[in-house]
Amino acid sequence: MTERPKTERPKFVTPKGRPPARRKPAAGPDLFTGVRPPASPKTAYYDPGCTQCPRLAEFLTETHHAHPDYFARPVPSYGDLAPKILIVGLAPGMHGANRTGRPFTGDYAGVLLYETLHELGLATAPESVSADDGLELRNVRITNAVKCVPPGNKPLPDEIRQCNAYLKSELAELKSVRVVFALGRIAHDGVLMAEGLKRSRFAFAHGAEHALDDKRVLVDSYHCSRYNTSTRVLTPEMFKKVMARACEIAGI
Ligand code: URA
Repeated sequence: MTERPKTERPKFVTPKGRPPARRKPAAGPDLFTGVRPPASPKTAYYDPGCTQCPRLAEFLTETHHAHPDYFARPVPSYGDLAPKILIVGLAPGMHGANRTGRPFTGDYAGVLLYETLHELGLATAPESVSADDGLELRNVRITNAVKCVPPGNKPLPDEIRQCNAYLKSELAELKSVRVVFALGRIAHDGVLMAEGLKRSRFAFAHGAEHALDDKRVLVDSYHCSRYNTSTRVLTPEMFKKVMARACEIAGI
């Protein structure tokens, strides 16, 4: 294969003609300041200006340039402020939560989730369309193991570890939680990491229940992704059953 001379290499230009993001965003100050205002105030479990994962921060900046109307920030958790169930997903979807700013909202991944929550009386509507659609959750809050959209839907192990501090704070802050409901193995592992528990003692399986301490139970489900639902790895009946069981444990 012949090597192309360096001068001929096409320059990467974003669709808006802006220069691409810097390789390593500066840590500390809000990378997004001056681009758009923060979505919510910084707390121990959510920082709208977090740039601690350089790859994810850069990807968010590129996403913002490509889609100026997208939320394109770390996505905050959503729902009841004193929930009995904390649902933990993987990470925002590019054209769903990353677009709308609400977990599992605006793409296929949330279809079965919100339908099921509504059927069980945990959501005021069967569909979550946008952050201002008026939908409310009762007794339930939804968060993600990783708060920023990852390229190809795949966060790196270091990014999962880095973001775990937020999940840990959220679990500590939400004292009302009785059931932590993990959507998929990455969420399951993230919860164990946040709780300082060994993975080898808590095997992930759909419908598995693990005592985290004397107050909280971890309930596992297959992730409600488009892939899992369309291949029927996860059917609506399976999902409803495990969510109903979570309600039972949580005393809802
Ligand atoms: N959207 C989310 O917010 N989380 C997921 O895990 C998938 C899609």
